[in-house]
Amino acid sequence: MSDLADRLQEIRDRLTAAVARSGRKPEEVELLAVSKTYPVEIIQQAVDAGQLSFGENRVQEIVLKQPQLPGKLQWHLIGPLQSNKVRKVLPLVKMIHAVDSLDIAQDINRIAAEMGLHPKVLIEINVAEESSKHGFTASAIRAQLEALYELDRLYIQGVMCIPPFDPVPENSRRYFTMLREIRDELEKLGGAPLPVLSMGMSHDFEVAIEEGASIVRVGSAIFGARAPKA
Ligand SMILES: *Cc1c(COP(=O)(O)O)cnc(C)c1O
Repeated sequence: MSDLADRLQEIRDRLTAAVARSGRKPEEVELLAVSKTYPVEIIQQAVDAGQLSFGENRVQEIVLKQPQLPGKLQWHLIGPLQSNKVRKVLPLVKMIHAVDSLDIAQDINRIAAEMGLHPKVLIEINVAEESSKHGFTASAIRAQLEALYELDRLYIQGVMCIPPFDPVPENSRRYFTMLREIRDELEKLGGAPLPVLSMGMSHDFEVAIEEGASIVRVGSAIFGARAPKA
């Protein structure tokens, strides 16, 4: 087995253990391998080890990589989306994780209608209300949920968050709890199920699973450390 296959197996084992600890079922949690910045040769090693779902944070990387990899893979856009990239990305991805404003949601809705598509989306919540971060604050999403639900092309599946980085995973727990509680509240407010909770990354995915994550987004723990941004 390659080193990558070993690391992937280790993550799967830890995921399974966290699922069991929380009294949940394995099929309730999906492992998304975050392949951003990694070349297709490395991604192919993950595919060979049985991984089929990948997350990328830039549209351009999906556009470049997808044609070079097997067609059976499922791609998720996990990074922010700009309106001029919507048309390009919509046919390529299974889910858009980071709808962070009513404006972008309206753009996605309009372009999806033009293209005859019904994209699955998640609403990004700025759980720690950081001014540097994207996403709706809890009060903003309460105020704008109705307007989002009027966008009839969007399948709003749930919520996602990127809490402030903390090297101690346990310190992220309160943000994961918060996202779950916001989700529960929005389900009542909107009268529609929001089954997807996209939360947890390499260093804290186990805590996220304990708090109800249904998709964990794991990059460096599978692929190795990324090169620092230039
Ligand atoms: C890069 C990224 C991840 C994965 O981060 P790791 O710490 O490498 O696991 C998860 N979610 C988002 C939105 C990302 O941009």
